[in-house]
Amino acid sequence: MKILLFGKDGQVGRALQPALAPLGDLIALGRAEADFSKPESLAPIIDELAPEVIVNAAAYTEVDAAEDDREMAWTVNAGALGVIGQIARKNGALVVHYSTDYVFDGLSPDPYPEAASTSPQSVYGASKLAGEVLLRESGARHLIFRTGWVYAPHGRNFPLTMLRLAQERDALSVVADQTGAPTPASLVASITAAAIPQALANPAKLGLYHLAPIGETSWHGLASYLVAEALAAGAVLRATPDSVQPTLAADYPARAKRPANSRLDTMKLRTAFGITLPAWQDGIRQLIDTLRTEGRL
Ligand code: NDP
Repeated sequence: MKILLFGKDGQVGRALQPALAPLGDLIALGRAEADFSKPESLAPIIDELAPEVIVNAAAYTEVDAAEDDREMAWTVNAGALGVIGQIARKNGALVVHYSTDYVFDGLSPDPYPEAASTSPQSVYGASKLAGEVLLRESGARHLIFRTGWVYAPHGRNFPLTMLRLAQERDALSVVADQTGAPTPASLVASITAAAIPQALANPAKLGLYHLAPIGETSWHGLASYLVAEALAAGAVLRATPDSVQPTLAADYPARAKRPANSRLDTMKLRTAFGITLPAWQDGIRQLIDTLRTEGRL
């Protein structure tokens, strides 16, 4: 099976490479080889490589910058998906794509199921939702995994930022009124690899899924846990769990609006693919372990 991966250098893209390689012949492309700001340029690349599966981990993910760079966010997150969908449909390829809890307004008191009505509050969220719609409407066979709060041992993400700040500062102020589930890129990758053969074998499994670990926390809860676990693992930090202070999102005005509730209901994913999801804390402990092993913490 030939698999074409777009966005190989991102958090999820990097995790996907070892996860997808055992499934077949993997061709991994980054921005230099496949530029999503020119969606029409993707068509000949896909046609020439003729993959059976296209996995798209490329996206415009700068949530605040997208507010001022609307056209580019829409081109990369939506326009490119229209092109990928059309070519995949023509060639009979399966498309695997990722989306976000930012398609919701975050006002629901409960975790969001796939069927919940969408109401994006930011350019990023609206562009990602448009990408979902264009892919679906292309008629290509597809899997879309909506996830949130993604992190990896590399790249720019909340856990790495918090650990750096905990090394530099005695006290941290962290938002306590937004909840979600911190999701390791490696979990997104392993579930993708497990789902692809199942979806190829059984079209009933195609479609939209919510992907997150079990449990929930706030950014403050996550920062406190990170500090406590890093200290327990022997890291030298200036901050302590007690010096991580809760604050309100309203005290940190950002360019783009973030959902207060980023929790995703994962029942459909677990049932369809027979997957047991780990607790969010497992991934955080693994991250600390990796950083310690690499001498970065
Ligand atoms: P990253 O920002 O780590 O990676 C995005 C990748 O897209 C980068 O490698 C980047 O290239 C590439 N890219 C950006 N613009 C272009 C372009 N014009 N042409 C080609 N490539 C481009 O994101 P993640 O790995 O975290 O995200 C993967 C998916 O998960 C995305 O669909 C995202 O929307 C979704 N998601 C992410 C969440 C998160 O918290 N990070 C939460 C929910 C969903 P380069 O390396 O050259 O910059």
